[in-house]
Amino acid sequence: MRNDALDLRTHLRRLHRLGLYTIPGWGGGKLLPGTDPRALSLNPPSLREVLEADYSDGLIILAGTENPHGGYLVAIDVDHGPEIWPSMPKGFLYDELGTQNTKRHIFVRTTDRLEGVLNLVAYGTGELVAEIKGLNLSLRSWPTMPPDKPRGYQPASWTVEWNLLAGPELTARQLADGMADFLSRSLGESIWVKDLDRPKTPATGIVASGDLAAAVEHELDRRNVRLRRPGGTGWQLGFCPFHDNTKTPAFSVNLTQGWICFSTCGRGSIFNLARRLGISTPEVSRPRLRRRAHPSEHEPVAVSWRVRF
Ligand SMILES: [Zn+2]
Repeated sequence: MRNDALDLRTHLRRLHRLGLYTIPGWGGGKLLPGTDPRALSLNPPSLREVLEADYSDGLIILAGTENPHGGYLVAIDVDHGPEIWPSMPKGFLYDELGTQNTKRHIFVRTTDRLEGVLNLVAYGTGELVAEIKGLNLSLRSWPTMPPDKPRGYQPASWTVEWNLLAGPELTARQLADGMADFLSRSLGESIWVKDLDRPKTPATGIVASGDLAAAVEHELDRRNVRLRRPGGTGWQLGFCPFHDNTKTPAFSVNLTQGWICFSTCGRGSIFNLARRLGISTPEVSRPRLRRRAHPSEHEPVAVSWRVRF
């Protein structure tokens, strides 16, 4: 299915509705200097920020974001696959064709937030067939057209509306095993999961302002979460504000960092918690999404490619 008529703003709105957050790139899929994909994954841009950003040098979809429809987003980067795919993985949200029919980007929800890369490698040859990517990684996407490629990525298919209602059921590891099995059968060679590579950057996360922490604490207090501090850490324990249980404290929060429910309500950053509690989050320091001048050492030599939209 070709989508040449799809304009960029429609594309961006569709992606954002699916929890696929876009950021500007340049040079066929590189992040703009100063971009922190991990911070952006934990605190993804609003629709307004997404629509106002300048994608004339390329567009990248963040992986590792918490999906508004449940689960976390992982991206499958397939470099060598079958030309015709009989079905999409469970929890599939969006699929785009790459520079050849056998190259694809598939975005899927899983129950866990993968923090690295699971490589799928052909047994015997050692050839990299596909990668499953999570937090702190991002994938180039339509409408980027790499300078040395015949054509850019383009949308192939989207999830259908009813599918959004069902939550993801697979872990990233199960998804990787399933992809390995599927690719083994469709390519006629043995594909296996190589490794889980942890990201090299430390998991610093981002820290909220005192105002936001105070607003969150006030709202939690109002909801009778009854926080108490079991240890000397910044983490406090209480009753989860998102599920009905006043017997077991299942909710842990650090008012400048994040939260987790030990039942099934999820986890996330303090910004994510503020949003779920209905608190409007103030502007936080995050890399500017508008186009900025590239430092000279990053300047593309020649812009010999066009943006497709
Ligand atoms: Zn809960």
